[in-house]
Amino acid sequence: MAAEDYVCLNIECRYHSSQPFSVCPQCGHHNTFVTQSNMRVRGCIGGALFLAIGCFLLLIAVFMSVLVASQHTSLTQLTDKDVTALLLLYGLGAVFLIGGISIMTGGGRWFIRSIIAFATRGRRYK
Ligand SMILES: [Zn+2]
Repeated sequence: MAAEDYVCLNIECRYHSSQPFSVCPQCGHHNTFVTQSNMRVRGCIGGALFLAIGCFLLLIAVFMSVLVASQHTSLTQLTDKDVTALLLLYGLGAVFLIGGISIMTGGGRWFIRSIIAFATRGRRYK
């Protein structure tokens, strides 16, 4: 059996190696190396987590749709604010759902990157 491959945890780097370096030769980060099977487990856990958040958001969105629909006699009486909030919830739920699935299947780099971009942008405006 071949020795296990190691991979850099840095999502922008993902440097593969047959041995764990204490400093990554590609991105220069310290102690980022884990075994590839460890990496896969982390991906599954992370993906499942995002999937759960996505399902949760969609559930809230559906619940709110029912709530809003029962408050108004017809859907044409929905205010812009209601519609925007609901669309946002559905959109966010769908993005987390898709992101979770793509992380679990080994991808999801675009998803992590957009979350990081979103988080850093939010910090800048504070
Ligand atoms: Zn690296």
